[in-house]
Order: sequence, then structure tokens, then C-alpha cells
Amino acid sequence: IEESEKFRIEYWELEEAKLRRMPAPKPLAARIALVTGAGSGIGKAIAHRLVAEGACVVVADLDGDNAAAVAEELGGPDKAVAVTVDVTSEEQIEAAFAAAVLAFGGVDLVVNNAGISISKPLLETTARDWDLQHDIMARGSFLVSRAAAKVMIEQKLGGDIVYIASKNAVFAGPNNIAYSAVKADQAHQVRLLAAELGEHGIRVNGINPDGVVRGSGIFAGGWGAQRAAVYGVEEAKLGEFYAQRTLLKREVLPEHVANAVFALTGGQLTHTTGLHIPVDAGVAAAFLR
Ligand code: NAD
Repeated sequence: IEESEKFRIEYWELEEAKLRRMPAPKPLAARIALVTGAGSGIGKAIAHRLVAEGACVVVADLDGDNAAAVAEELGGPDKAVAVTVDVTSEEQIEAAFAAAVLAFGGVDLVVNNAGISISKPLLETTARDWDLQHDIMARGSFLVSRAAAKVMIEQKLGGDIVYIASKNAVFAGPNNIAYSAVKADQAHQVRLLAAELGEHGIRVNGINPDGVVRGSGIFAGGWGAQRAAVYGVEEAKLGEFYAQRTLLKREVLPEHVANAVFALTGGQLTHTTGLHIPVDAGVAAAFLR
């Protein structure tokens, strides 16, 4: 809380009054982040990176046990607190933000990462599949961003909202109508919120990963088997398959996505909003299949 107050006085008020422009972004070491889906995979790597940079993190996940384990790994209540939250619930999201304010005094960096993947061909995709996919990722990220914006606007410290979208937001992956459509929805949320929140010094950007097999609960929980069948490769060799189709011939790991969150929020990309950064080792630049 003291850090935030110091920042407000040193940077925000002075800079704004003197220069009549947006202030320098708050350094990561003084930031308070809330990461959804941080109990596993990409979200967990993001939480680790943010704490390594000095931020405090609220580890928010539907799986409370995983969230608690990650918060513990991150050093416990001084650096990280776990919150069990279903991002489809307005009440639980409000409670998660209230917990962040209670634990650390505010929130100025939010990562919309929670997700599932229902990956089926069109004729097998049920209305229920469609609704579940959209409830969690379209409605869920909208609700989280709305709660984030409310806190950030009140704080008058600016902030960052980052969406972990997907290469599938832009390119049509085979047999995953519900997942790809919801990722495109998230990508447009980025542009819409960048437009609406810019005047408050809130940047909204997206990251489009692809082929993060290792560490991903989504891949382990069925998506991997489905993708392996679509591409005609053994599931155990899926990471290698993805690596071979990239321009860099490298596997994308959760840490590489976390690096992009750092790039967007670490203080250098001060005038970047509404952007999507691919973290796919080059797949989107020369998309094959
Ligand atoms: P993961 O399964 O390891 O992580 C997802 C987390 O979200 C889990 O901890 C899960 O419990 C949580 N979650 C699910 N439903 C939730 C809900 N209703 N409320 C709160 N939390 C919920 O998978 P991951 O691969 O790390 O995926 C993270 C994000 O990255 C997802 O949005 C996914 O679509 C996106 N993404 C992943 C890849 C990839 O290759 N793995 C590629 C592009 C985009």
C-alpha cells in the first residue's frame, strides 16, 4: 500500500500535472497482479515470472488446491495469495478482486488466462459445448476485465490487462469451432477495451500462443489426444511435431508466454495497446496447418 501511495505521488500526480501526459507505468516491483487460471500451465508460469520481477500476485483458479500450491511455491502471503474462483461467476470474481485489495491494497495488472478447450468437429459440437466454452472464456474474461477496470479506474494508477488468446484467434485450426470462435471473441475484447480504457492509462494487450504442450493441463486433459489424431501423430510426440512446424524449430513452453507478459508490462512498451503478440515460434507468420 505504501509503495502504491509513493508511486502515486512521485510519478502519477507530478508527471501528470507537470507534463499533462500519461505517467510512466508503475514498475513491476511495485505491482499487484491477478492472474486467472494460475494454478497450472501458462498461468502458473506467468505468476512465477511476475513474482520473480518483484510483483505480488493473486493466484486465481477454479482448482483451489492447485492455486494454493502455486501461492505456496511463490513464497506465501507476503508475495502471493490463492483465491478459488470460477470466472463464470460475477460474485466470485468480485470476491477475488476484494481479496486482492485486502491482501495487497489494489490491483494494477490482470491476466485473463483461465480456459478450457472443447475441440470437436462442427457436427459433434453441442450447444452445451459452445455455451461452456463461451461462458468461461468470452463471458469470463469480460467479467474479469470489467472488475479489473473498475478497480484500476478508481485507483488512478493506470494498469495493464493482458489476454492469453491464441493463434486460433486469427487462424482457423481444424475441428475446433467453439474454441477458435471464443479466442476471436477475446481478441476483439482486447481492441474494444484498449479503445475504452486508454484514457485512464490502462493498456489492454493480447498474447497469441501456439503449441504449448508441456505443462499444459488443456493438452493433458484431452486436447492433446484430439490434436494428435487430427495431425496423425503420436500424442507423446506432439511437442516435437509442433516444434518442427515452427519457423524456429523450437517448442513453445509456458515460460515463453510469461516472457511476453513481462515484455508487455515490464515498463518498456509504454505506448502499446490493442496489440496481439504471437508466441508461437513463427507459426502464424507462415501458417501451414
Ligand atoms: P491449463 O489447463 O494448464 O490452465 C488453465 C487453467 O484455467 C487451469 O488451472 C484451470 O483450472 C483454470 N480454469 C478452467 N476453467 C476455469 C474457470 N471457470 N474459472 C477459473 N479458472 C478456470 O492450460 P494452459 O495450456 O496453460 O492454458 C492457459 C490459457 O492459454 C488458456 O486460455 C488457453 O486457451 C491458452 N492457450 C494455450 C495454448 C497452449 O498451447 N497450451 C495455446 C494458445 C492459448
